[in-house]
Amino acid sequence: MKHLQRFLKDEAATIELGEDLALALKAGDCVALSGDLGAGKSTFARALLRAIADDETLEVPSPTFTLVQNYDLRIPVAHFDLYRLADASELEELGFDEALSEGICLVEWPEKGDEALPSDRITLAFTHDGDGRQLAISAPDASFERISRSLAIRSFLSQNGYATARRRHLSGDASIRAYERVVTDGEPAKILMDAARHKPGPILQGGKYYQQLAHLAEDVVPFVAISELLRGRGFAAPAIYARDLDKGILLIEDLGSEGILNTEGRPVAERYLESVRLLARLHGEPTR
Ligand code: ADP
Ligand code: MG
Repeated sequence: MKHLQRFLKDEAATIELGEDLALALKAGDCVALSGDLGAGKSTFARALLRAIADDETLEVPSPTFTLVQNYDLRIPVAHFDLYRLADASELEELGFDEALSEGICLVEWPEKGDEALPSDRITLAFTHDGDGRQLAISAPDASFERISRSLAIRSFLSQNGYATARRRHLSGDASIRAYERVVTDGEPAKILMDAARHKPGPILQGGKYYQQLAHLAEDVVPFVAISELLRGRGFAAPAIYARDLDKGILLIEDLGSEGILNTEGRPVAERYLESVRLLARLHGEPTR
């Protein structure tokens, strides 16, 4: 288990945290929300659900009487309020295990179901502190890693002038990089690349580990270098608006989602021709 503490100065900070966790959680995560009445549990749950749904108007009724509300989203979420649970054994009848196998379980008043909740759960404990709230996060190492990475991305955005940005999931490519869409009012959306440096795996051959043998980029430096080289020569490559080379976080231009196939999945001849012309030009101007 690892722990961290944060001060949430106002309601907006609680909502922002909901968005940050929406990008860190995955199916199988149980999140216990503890704290007194008015501590901010429901505010957090609503923000998390709206971020996963990518819908600011999503209705999030309190599960106080129904005990559970289910949301069929990108990752399914079951929102429990166990305040009225008579006995921890009822949790199973409410479909807890099934919900956890398919998605995320958010649990308000977890104390009521304590012994029936998974021991590897993530706990968010909210307490009043002046006009704001203190939040203590405890999580097993693997989920803690995901959460702290998401919080590091948020700090990166704030430090680079995107303090009010909204962050949204973007389905990734096959690599270990992850991407998000970053939206700030009045500006074109940007793409955030999340590519932490590889942790060396087992040595496989000649003193090298897999990523080295497969010639995979070990960090974002080659991406930045190639982008700058191409742009310097007048080719279109994503502009880089902000970077943290050490952490492996880049904020880059959104080149849109159209490819070289049309909406029916057929090749667009002109785009293939342009691609070939581009390759020919690149070959004509060798890089040392
Ligand atoms: P709970 O579900 O824990 O009973 P709520 O989420 O309903 O609490 O929040 C109670 C009130 O606290 C709401 O009016 C909400 O706007 C406010 N609130 C939430 N987070 C914060 C914060 N970090 N600082 C100040 N007020 C907050
Ligand atoms: Mg509540």
